[in-house]
Amino acid sequence: MLRYIYKFVLRERVFFVETIHFPNLHREVLTTLQVNIGYKCNQRCSHCHVNAGPERKEMMDNETIKLIPKVLKLYNINILDLTGGAPEIHPLFKDLVIKASSLGVEIIDRCNLTILNEPGHEELGVFLADHNVNIIASLPCYSKENVDKQRGHGVFERSILGLKQLNSLGYGQEETNLKLNLVYNPLGPNLPPSQAKLEEVYRKELYTNFGICFNNLYTLANMPIKRFAAQLANSGELEGYTKLLKEKHNPENLENVMCKTLISVDWQGTLFDCDFNQQLGMKINGKANHIRDLASQNLDLKGQSINTDEHCYGCTAGSGSSCSGALGK
Ligand code: SF4
Ligand code: SF4
Repeated sequence: MLRYIYKFVLRERVFFVETIHFPNLHREVLTTLQVNIGYKCNQRCSHCHVNAGPERKEMMDNETIKLIPKVLKLYNINILDLTGGAPEIHPLFKDLVIKASSLGVEIIDRCNLTILNEPGHEELGVFLADHNVNIIASLPCYSKENVDKQRGHGVFERSILGLKQLNSLGYGQEETNLKLNLVYNPLGPNLPPSQAKLEEVYRKELYTNFGICFNNLYTLANMPIKRFAAQLANSGELEGYTKLLKEKHNPENLENVMCKTLISVDWQGTLFDCDFNQQLGMKINGKANHIRDLASQNLDLKGQSINTDEHCYGCTAGSGSSCSGALGK
């Protein structure tokens, strides 16, 4: 999206009136298909950019789900990143995992941890381990108070239970290949602290207090969109937060923003440059705008321009932010 910097000089001082022009981005080779298979979730977190919750009904249909393995194969994509809502709630989640794992792709389950101890999902952890699914799990703090404040009463204790279950299955242990990566995002309108330093603190706190191990901690900035934006608008902090993101824009992070190598698919099969654009309804550029278009022939997507806007500063501010944590590691 083009915006311009207007400069004028008054009594030898230079004033910049409008400083919004997020740089143009273009797609590179596709490595990741990120699929949001439905907005239903057993939680309703205050920062959720998907507005997910137990009352949401949107679920990907069978015909669209069937196209996912086809696209993985056709484009030689090596990562399937499953998200939601709680993706495991989808009745075809396990079928999809089985099909994708037979293609040898890395499967990521964005797991909220509490789903592992929801009634009817008791066998989920074993299933994920049996199919070598890597887990990226939200745990915005190692303290009960902060987690419950952001994610709901009782979520911390249930998350610890989920982590213990995953550890007992081999997740997060050095001797296995079962990856358990945790996600931190700030409670309020601040940028995340240093990923490496916070990882050390998490490791010590979780091991000392609960005997829990994990592989990596990913620090993510909160996007000022949807539920989080509404929350900031209510508290009068939205303008300040968006200004902070712009002020902290680090051009070096542009090299590694996730939209360059990822395509996001919504529950209806529509394509987007990333999950955030999906939530904002900013469709992908180019002729292919549905997963069925990708499945019909092998299209050359390299060089395609990416739709950007003000929220993109959430990816480039400070150390940068992506679905795999900080960019300037
Ligand atoms: S667990 Fe994830 S998808 Fe569910 S409400 Fe919380 S942030 Fe949203
Ligand atoms: S929000 Fe981030 S990932 Fe999405 S288009 Fe903007 S820079 Fe790319």
